[in-house]
Amino acid sequence: MTLVEHTPQGLYCRAADAWIDPWRPVPRALITHAHADHARAGCGEYWAIGRAEAVLRQRLGQTINLHALSYGDVIRLGDAEVSFHSAGHVLGSAQIRLRAGDETWLVSGDYKRDPDPSCDPFEVVDCDVLITEATFGMPIYRWPSGRSVAQELMQWWQAAPERASLLFCYAFGKAQRLLAELAQLGLDEEVLLHGAMVPITQAYRDEGIAMLPTRPLSALPRKSDWSGRLVLAPPSAHRSPWMKRFKAPQTAFASGWMAVRGARRRRGYERGFVLSDHADWDGLLQTVRQSRAQQVYVTHGQSEVLARYLKEVEGISSEPLATLFEGEGDH
Ligand SMILES: [Zn+2]
Ligand SMILES: [Zn+2]
Repeated sequence: MTLVEHTPQGLYCRAADAWIDPWRPVPRALITHAHADHARAGCGEYWAIGRAEAVLRQRLGQTINLHALSYGDVIRLGDAEVSFHSAGHVLGSAQIRLRAGDETWLVSGDYKRDPDPSCDPFEVVDCDVLITEATFGMPIYRWPSGRSVAQELMQWWQAAPERASLLFCYAFGKAQRLLAELAQLGLDEEVLLHGAMVPITQAYRDEGIAMLPTRPLSALPRKSDWSGRLVLAPPSAHRSPWMKRFKAPQTAFASGWMAVRGARRRRGYERGFVLSDHADWDGLLQTVRQSRAQQVYVTHGQSEVLARYLKEVEGISSEPLATLFEGEGDH
């Protein structure tokens, strides 16, 4: 690897003297998006998309030294030209392109290709070398459309007017996407939010994202009548004391992992909705082909499977790249 190298702090571009989504505090961090495995506290300066700023400050501190960019802006850092391009993953998410000498590299961060009314669409970017994620890099992962999932979800909710409907999903990205998808179906019923989702959802509203009306659950008395209400909460609240206020609620989990046989039952949810903010198998292959990269490094999740397929079937030079924080990251 040349323009971008692997260091103990994470991916490093010497020409720009900057790290991309570093794992440890560094002087200069280029941040693809505000999820916790990509954006960490303690860096000297941060560069990110302006639409990510509110959530980044909520998570890393209001006083971080942040340079806010727009998609497509080209900035000069040291000897490199750097630009951020929409990744379609969550609000303000970016792929980062680095150019120096005659090389162009693209670090995808997390991304998806499916339409999502809560964030900007994925942009195809040309490069020589692509570093792609592969959270769902196996052929079994093929996503239904967000719209069809929202329709199933609406039917599930409306079929139980006598129960509270507790829908568990990641607090940043997934919750707001669901609220936006439901609004697109023409609903306008109020949805109740677990406290962990309130400031992030407000940040989306401040950026003009149309979503169903919401209210913090904590604004209502604990002994309210919850029947017929839809409540969104993070997975950590499932089977916690937080749930005790609801008498016999129905429960569901919305995640790409719900495509895995048995995953819903193992986690104790009555219902699973398959909805991911990552590219599925076809989305990964489409992205690699469209980038026209001659060399691909694969990180996150099923990196071995995707790298081998690219090499053996697509004839693209490709290898897995070990990252420090692997694991179940459908967020
Ligand atoms: Zn991630
Ligand atoms: Zn992410």
